[in-house]
Amino acid sequence: MSAPDGGPLAERLAAVDSGIADAARAAGRDPAELTRIVVTKFHPAALVRELAALGVHELGENRHQEAQAKAAETADLDIRWHFVGQLQSNKARAVRRYAHAIHSLDRTSLVDALRDAEAPAIEGFLEIDLSGEPGRGGVAPDAAPALAERVLATEGLRLVGVMGVAPLGAEPRPAFARLRAVSERIRELAPDADRISAGMSGDFREAILEGATHLRIGTAITGKRPDRG
Ligand SMILES: *Cc1c(COP(=O)(O)O)cnc(C)c1O
Repeated sequence: MSAPDGGPLAERLAAVDSGIADAARAAGRDPAELTRIVVTKFHPAALVRELAALGVHELGENRHQEAQAKAAETADLDIRWHFVGQLQSNKARAVRRYAHAIHSLDRTSLVDALRDAEAPAIEGFLEIDLSGEPGRGGVAPDAAPALAERVLATEGLRLVGVMGVAPLGAEPRPAFARLRAVSERIRELAPDADRISAGMSGDFREAILEGATHLRIGTAITGKRPDRG
């Protein structure tokens, strides 16, 4: 375990943050306009505590059961949970209870399942399919405006932007350029939905060059994920 004021975790965090700042400057952007979300999937709640002690407050998870348990174990900490994984509609309402944002709105049935007239609004990103392959998750770029309209008409959801994962085995930058083009279309419908959630450990530099505002970084900060067993 690393101490809050040093150790490998603090070093990796600092190295990634300086890489983010360098990439932002190279893109002519202010590093302060970027939000770095640390994805803690497969890591124990103890790592969440270490990260919080290092001043990290934006954390991400991609599976509901694990996220729910970790959020409960760390409820005493000041953390905003970002749900970044595929989400089944029957889990949607449960995710609302601990998540600050959902990055994976990709179909009307999920949007409809998140409708809630009483609860405070949760932030939603439309996940855009950048691979063109069925089954990879995400709404097709051409279908994104209609899904955006659906979110805008849904009580309890606030459309904040788009999200994308670069396809494996291809140059990430053209994929992030496609995401940026979708973002521009969505902003014609919802000028405030100006966030772009893109960039992971291996491709955050390319994402920043294409306008990413929210980076989802796992292994480069947390280290190798423990075996799922
Ligand atoms: C795991 C995950 C990340 C982080 O991936 P790393 O390559 O470990 O940085 C980002 N986004 C999503 C949707 C993920 O599932």
